[in-house]
Amino acid sequence: MGEDVYEVQAVRYATSPDRKRFHNCLHCAPGDVHDAMPMDFYVWVIRNAQRTIVVDTGSRDWKCVQRGHEYIRSPIEGLDALGVAPNRVDDVVLTHMHWDHAGNIDGFANAHIHLQQAEMRNVTSQDMADPAINTFFLVDDVCTVVQRLFEGRVTFHERSREIASGISVHEVGGHSAGMQIVRVNTARGWVVLASDATHFYANYRERNPFPVLYNFQDTVKGWDRCLELADSPDHVIPGHDPLVLRRYPAVSGALEGDAVRLDADPIEP
Ligand SMILES: [Zn+2]
Repeated sequence: MGEDVYEVQAVRYATSPDRKRFHNCLHCAPGDVHDAMPMDFYVWVIRNAQRTIVVDTGSRDWKCVQRGHEYIRSPIEGLDALGVAPNRVDDVVLTHMHWDHAGNIDGFANAHIHLQQAEMRNVTSQDMADPAINTFFLVDDVCTVVQRLFEGRVTFHERSREIASGISVHEVGGHSAGMQIVRVNTARGWVVLASDATHFYANYRERNPFPVLYNFQDTVKGWDRCLELADSPDHVIPGHDPLVLRRYPAVSGALEGDAVRLDADPIEP
């Protein structure tokens, strides 16, 4: 039996237009520290006639604003505009538990959640007693996952696992303790939703990590893992890069400027 083939879309829900290069890249030459480097926030949808899987659930409005970013619309509203009814989503993959990736879980009432065991272990560890660490997480998001766990609707994966024919998750760590990426079979080949394994194209191309790090070495190795699992570097989709919206064709008729098709070839180099 052949692998299933999916459509994949990126949906922007927030933006941070005033960020500078030093916010996004650990190593900056003195001259380019203050170069403009805006950041976008996305969720992703993978679907075909058989199933709909959402990758990450974005942030709540208040949290996004509190962190100084501009909220465009709720990811739930964005998905709805693309014809993805949140209560008909079969599975939600959380790439990691950071506030901008794991909010709004309760909006997906019938979904089964996929997370790495290492991520859950970390967000319920002593680490979370330290405000310098827990600032990247929301306790309500963690509690929602625990609630779902008790309902038998969470699977904690270890390392790599196929979650449906043509879709697999892969632990890379680095940015967070149990950061995972998603590999999906599309009409143009194997696409990797890297999420925060590489926030920007620049992070992996220049081998220059985003400054929020759980483990530097694993971050570096994570880039190679993304490239290894994708059919080409053009098949690796960064988690926060505004270039994604320019490089890929718009989803026709919906969410102008905020939704693109990643299963189609890039239109810009
Ligand atoms: Zn993020």
